Amino acid sequence: MGERTCSDQFRGRARRTIAAVLILAIAACGRSSAPTDGASNPPTAKCAVKRVASYSTDWKPLPAAPIAVSAEVQAARDRLLGPGATDPAQVKLWWVGVASFIASMGGHLFLLDAWEIVGLHKDYLPLGREDLVAIAPEIIFIGHGHFDHAADMGYVAGRTGAPIVGGVTTCNNARGQAARDGNQDAFSCLLLGDANVPAPGTIQSIKIWKDMEEVSVLRHVHSAADPADLATGNLPLVFVPEILVFLQNLNTDPQEIQWFFESLDDEAGNSPPGGAWAYHFKVGDFTLLWHDSAGPIADGKDFAEDIQCALDSFPACVDVQVGTIVGFGAITSGLRDVSLYVQHAHPRLSLPNHHDAWLPVVGPGDESYEVQWRAEVASLPNAPELDYLKDPEDYLKVRNYWVNDPKWKEPMPGSSCAAL
Ligand SMILES: [Zn+2]
Repeated sequence: MGERTCSDQFRGRARRTIAAVLILAIAACGRSSAPTDGASNPPTAKCAVKRVASYSTDWKPLPAAPIAVSAEVQAARDRLLGPGATDPAQVKLWWVGVASFIASMGGHLFLLDAWEIVGLHKDYLPLGREDLVAIAPEIIFIGHGHFDHAADMGYVAGRTGAPIVGGVTTCNNARGQAARDGNQDAFSCLLLGDANVPAPGTIQSIKIWKDMEEVSVLRHVHSAADPADLATGNLPLVFVPEILVFLQNLNTDPQEIQWFFESLDDEAGNSPPGGAWAYHFKVGDFTLLWHDSAGPIADGKDFAEDIQCALDSFPACVDVQVGTIVGFGAITSGLRDVSLYVQHAHPRLSLPNHHDAWLPVVGPGDESYEVQWRAEVASLPNAPELDYLKDPEDYLKVRNYWVNDPKWKEPMPGSSCAAL
């Protein structure tokens, strides 16, 4: 009784053990990235944000809350999310791996991305894609169509009828996924754009629900490595990934292994197939920005000026920013790009993600990034408060924000809202 098993002890040690050292370059130093661009050049309220009409013209807003659900769905929500999951007085977020979240706002329950993290390992996340179905999300917002964000969107949409919000290619992939179960026509898509339209750096405002304010959708760019950045003094991010967690939760299910390999090439290089989209939600004085990629938006890069401007031009700015801190840019410019999204969005509170152990080496585990990311954020002007998510401890652990909390009324120092 009470004795830790050998595997428990092994796991405990593994969390702190250096399993392998990934060195992405010959250079290694305490701070691996060059001084971040843009810190001395914050956007101003006077930048010209580019707003465009909705790409979809036939979208009908979803019903107002409260949304009646079956006793079965309610029981699944209570079991997985706790009681009062859709309390309209609060905004709630449950992290379910990589950049995927279950979210509740204004009495509505919805998904941000949809993937049960399965690959080399399985059952690391205490939730499966069937649970995402069981809670009956009203709608699924997809940041971009790579497998680690969207491999289960068709499974969930096909079984629940929840519409998918994303680019044309992403929607087509969702139908392909749902076709495995004959569900390819069981849901609609709210299409945001195709390969060319609208341009990165533009914002569309879309009435998603009848009773909610419009959601602002920013087209941005997927993360990318640019060797030219190394030539101009940037350095790669150096970190120590966790490996043992994968072996401890090894995936031995042939069906899961097959599905994983099938999903690997979804939107292979992304940019542009289904595009990359950041979503800004507002309820009362509370605002939430979620983005699951962070493209190269340093000064001088394509579309950088427009994206920087847009990040600081959302209605009532950004209180809580939920954003990736992992991307291909780490190879050639360290934390520069992921940091620039925080700098330009000026959140009051920042929740980093995508840094959990979801794929060996690429998905490094929270500890691999923590010291560097805390230092990076602390170095920012008007640094936000940091809620550093940990895996697996923070999976499904609710974050809740009271909509009427007076702190959301205060403009965040440095933001365009403070400049007004
Ligand atoms: Zn991606």
